[in-house]
Formats: sequence, structure tokens, C-alpha cells
Amino acid sequence: MADCIFCRIVAGELPADVVARTPRCLAFRDLDPKAPTHVLVVPVDHIDHAGELGPEHADMLAEVFDTARTVAEGDGVAASGYRLVFNVGDDAGNTVPHLHLHVLGGRPMAWPPG
Ligand code: 5GP
Ligand code: ZN
Repeated sequence: MADCIFCRIVAGELPADVVARTPRCLAFRDLDPKAPTHVLVVPVDHIDHAGELGPEHADMLAEVFDTARTVAEGDGVAASGYRLVFNVGDDAGNTVPHLHLHVLGGRPMAWPPG
């Protein structure tokens, strides 16, 4: 996906503040953070969004969630708590069409989100 910004970050063609890297995923800080910790965990291989996931993605997803925990521990928010979010579609506010797990922490968060 040559025109996908997250594919380009994964490929090293665009800069990003990378905090973790595994064979199947990359974690980098959100450009416009909504919390003191706001990291995006993305799969290396392009997939549009969480609505496209199937059993064949089980290994990749396990790595994404494992990386999210590593990020939370690294930022010191594992004990205080953090939120994991996949946005799907317009009503959820999905803007980048490359699967990404938001890792948000470092402040109390309202539920339901606004
Ligand atoms: P979505 O709304 O699609 O769930 O989340 C997309 C996120 O990507 C937003 O929080 C936005 O701030 C972030 N974002 C958009 N473009 C870039 C970029 O070029 N670099 C980084 N690090 N984050 C980006
Ligand atoms: Zn992509």
C-alpha cells in the first residue's frame, strides 16, 4: 500500500517516534496525543481495519496485544490502567485505513467516551 501513511512509517519512509518493534508489528507515538500515553500498535502487513480480521490473523493479533502490554509497562501506566481502542468506520472516527490499536493511559478516562 504505497499511499498508506502507516505502511510508510513501517517501511521507514516517514518518521515516527517508535517505542517497540516485533516481527509482526510496530508501536509508535500518536502525532496528536489524546492522553499522556498515546501509542499506536500497527501490524507490519497492511489490513484496513478490525472489521477485516479473521482467524488467520490470530498470531499477529496476539503480538499486537502483547506489544500493547509492553508499551503500557514501559510508560509506567500498566498499574494505573490504560485503554485499548480499535476504531472501525466513520461513526467511530476512524481516519487512517491501516489497522491500529490505540494504547491510551496516564490520566483517568471517561466511559462511555465522548
Ligand atoms: P483513528 O482515528 O483512525 O482511529 O486514529 C488515527 C490516529 O493516527 C489519530 O489519533 C492520529 O492523531 C494519528 N495519526 C495520523 N497521522 C499520523 C502520522 O502521520 N503519524 C503518527 N504518529 N500518528 C498519526
Ligand atoms: Zn497500510
